[in-house]
Amino acid sequence: MILACKHCDKIINVGHIGQQQRALCPYCGSQLFSCRNNQQQWINAFSIASLLFLFSSLYPSFISFSQHGLKQQISLWDAAMLLGDTYSTMLAFVFIFTILLMPLAVCSLVLIAQSPLWRRLNPHNARWISKSLSYIVPLNLADIFLVAVLVSAFKLMAYADLELGYGFWAYVLFVFCFIELLTLIDENELWQRQQPQFEPKTLFCGKSAKSQALKQCGVCGQLSSSTHCPRCYAKTYFRKPQANARALAWMVTALVLMVPANLLPIMNTVNLGQNTFATIFSGIVILWQDGSYPVAIIIFVASICIPIIKALALFYLLIETQRCKRVEQASKLYRWLEWMGKWSMIDVFVVIILVSLVQLGTVLTVEPQIGIVFFAVMVLCQMMSVHSFDPRILWDRLTPHE
Ligand SMILES: [Zn+2]
Ligand SMILES: [Zn+2]
Repeated sequence: MILACKHCDKIINVGHIGQQQRALCPYCGSQLFSCRNNQQQWINAFSIASLLFLFSSLYPSFISFSQHGLKQQISLWDAAMLLGDTYSTMLAFVFIFTILLMPLAVCSLVLIAQSPLWRRLNPHNARWISKSLSYIVPLNLADIFLVAVLVSAFKLMAYADLELGYGFWAYVLFVFCFIELLTLIDENELWQRQQPQFEPKTLFCGKSAKSQALKQCGVCGQLSSSTHCPRCYAKTYFRKPQANARALAWMVTALVLMVPANLLPIMNTVNLGQNTFATIFSGIVILWQDGSYPVAIIIFVASICIPIIKALALFYLLIETQRCKRVEQASKLYRWLEWMGKWSMIDVFVVIILVSLVQLGTVLTVEPQIGIVFFAVMVLCQMMSVHSFDPRILWDRLTPHE
């Protein structure tokens, strides 16, 4: 099969690859696709298992805790409802959307793409499904949510006795199945089953698609020179439009938001009538003083280091598109940025979980503060920035020297 690398735009001829093998781009090292034993069966099995475990995690006891003789048992659904009733419907919606609706949507779309219906689907509808999958998959936060539950458990242990219920263990199993499912989904293979690829006539392997006046479709990967993809009818571009300017704009917005996100309190713990406001940093200091060193380090790295490193890395990439000195490293850095994207969301979830779980009347309550909203929007802006950047621009200036 002949295809263009999504990261460096070089045309590559990939021969047949066997079971348990991966095809890597010889120029930038990114993975082109992989092949596993019985891939289709595994995808079906994992998506059905994920759905079953996801529904089981709604079981009435997710987590329960007690303090001064008061016991509270809560399920995921109760947590969301409580959040909506007491604070904001918006926060409750974000909660339900990211940890329940999004995985549900992914599993259902994958099952449609696996069914015999997929081949008979009109390419417009298939494009809609494949596009939604490519948007949803990086935004899926189920694994982050699990880490956040553990972090919240550590924070809560200082105040109350905790018990993890069946719902929690079902959610753990769901996260494992779901992560495995995400690694198995392969867009190339998906489209190859929908409609075989059209091969353009004159192709020189090892040169960029752009230098041969070919555009790679952003949805299905088909190479063509027309304005719309012949396979899925999506609009085609040589490079993402105004990639650098958009990436810069999103990142500058994120930098501005970083100031209130770090200075304003993110939550308020009311314990026996006493208010304790915490910012991101003071929360980490408290964890450290309590002796929960691993948790303090995780939060410090995820909430403070990663956003700063991401901003610096993106500026470096923007400079590198002009300078082109270390294109290969820059390309690697971009793949790392894509992967890192969501981890900064841990703190947002910790606050959401604490707020929705800890409502023991006047004894102990946790209230969200405005800082967490700035923080969540800041992380989303950073993710948008990384998404808008086009790594192929890094390689463009190298092409004349070949
Ligand atoms: Zn490549
Ligand atoms: Zn296409």
